[in-house]
Amino acid sequence: MRRAKILATLGPASRDPAVIEALIASGANGVRINMSHGTHEEKAEDIRRARAAALRLQRPLSVLADLSGPKIRTRQLKDGKPVTLETGALFRLTTRSVVGDAKQVATNYPDLPRVVQPGARLLLDDGAIALLVEDTTETDVVCRVINGGVLGERKGINLPGISLPIASLTEKDIEDLNWAVAQDVDYIALSFVRRAEDCVQAKSLINKAGGRAPLVAKIEKAEAIDHLDDIIAAADAIMVARGDLGVETSVELVPVYQKRIIEKSVHVGKMVITATQMLQSMVTSPRPTRAEASDVANAVWDGTDALMLSNETATGQYPVPAVETMCRIIESAESGKNSESNHVAKWAGRQSGRVSRALCEAAAFAAEEMGTRVTAVLTESGLMARRLSALRPEQRIVALTSSRNVQNELSLIWGVEALITPRANSTEEMLKSGEKTLLDAGAVENGEMIVVMAGRLSGLGLSSSVTLFTVGASLSPSST
Ligand code: PGA
Ligand code: MN
Repeated sequence: MRRAKILATLGPASRDPAVIEALIASGANGVRINMSHGTHEEKAEDIRRARAAALRLQRPLSVLADLSGPKIRTRQLKDGKPVTLETGALFRLTTRSVVGDAKQVATNYPDLPRVVQPGARLLLDDGAIALLVEDTTETDVVCRVINGGVLGERKGINLPGISLPIASLTEKDIEDLNWAVAQDVDYIALSFVRRAEDCVQAKSLINKAGGRAPLVAKIEKAEAIDHLDDIIAAADAIMVARGDLGVETSVELVPVYQKRIIEKSVHVGKMVITATQMLQSMVTSPRPTRAEASDVANAVWDGTDALMLSNETATGQYPVPAVETMCRIIESAESGKNSESNHVAKWAGRQSGRVSRALCEAAAFAAEEMGTRVTAVLTESGLMARRLSALRPEQRIVALTSSRNVQNELSLIWGVEALITPRANSTEEMLKSGEKTLLDAGAVENGEMIVVMAGRLSGLGLSSSVTLFTVGASLSPSST
């Protein structure tokens, strides 16, 4: 049973309903809808197809809408054709509306000439091209090409180390956010988060729109690293967005930050996704490199909840093999090395003062003591299952919820298998229907002892409790 989850980005290579279904069938626990490209109509169709495929396969699925954030980009080029920037040549980024060529290209950021100074370094297309600012005018930034290369249309412009006076949610982001809420997505991610306030603002917009989606803060700027603790506290979940993070900071800092971000997130029980270039070579090759296999395994050992595929599934030639390969590497990592984070010792001795944490620790200790295989969590909001997962226990975590939305949300949480169980009116009814759900799903066997825990279940006696329960023996909790 695989514990770490897989999030696959949908795109032109995976728009076909059969491909989407194959991605889910081969192990994708969630799909990412990247709002940086395409129209709302296309995205809505992607979501419809993904939901329909999950339904056919009877699998839960998280749908994550990823907002572009304040990403600065270049604009169109003549005839849409890429141009070559020669090292040593001059190149202008301009706020005038020009059609780009090998000498200049327009940008979507009107303040660019005012926020950069001569001597600043600008990076185009994820750092593939480096520019040095020589001069600025009212409308233009005149640059020397330091590292030349081929520039396509609408590529990212990164300004490492420059703090931008720019709104964290652009007009487009706000439109996309409202659209995503209307689509009833399970997660909303915000790119280029810089401060905790960015998360607070996005969450309040989700709230105002009547949405339920937890907010994923993408850590991809040096400023976000500076405010990491506050951002993790303010967001519901975190993404280690290694692509832009490597450009905005430096590539050698990515593994350092990855470990730090995952550890801090897991420590406070926030879901964390590790993203970008995990199986990059599979964009064009049916097999990964050894380094990529190691990278996926190491993210698992770092304790990540989920691992993301980007171009591998969005534009690559082998979207389904990429998911299959990732699955196999995760399973091998999980069985080959019992990571420290899988052990009770890691979390013992901490005092958070939180009731939910105390209950989860009690459940985990009871499971260790009794040698049980399964811990069932009766949960309405999914919160208690998330908290238990954060302890990374060895026992299976089966969440029982009456909410399809909660089931889908939990699909990206480490180690959580969520089953739908009918809403009950009493403790007895709850245990009885939960037991039947577990048996029907083959999660437990008759006569087996399991740990059952409950969060705050409205109006039920089991509220905030941990019990040992023998499946099929009787309807009362075991007493021995
Ligand atoms: P992106 O985010 O793919 O939306 O840019 C992930 C990253 O930057 O790593
Ligand atoms: Mn990014």
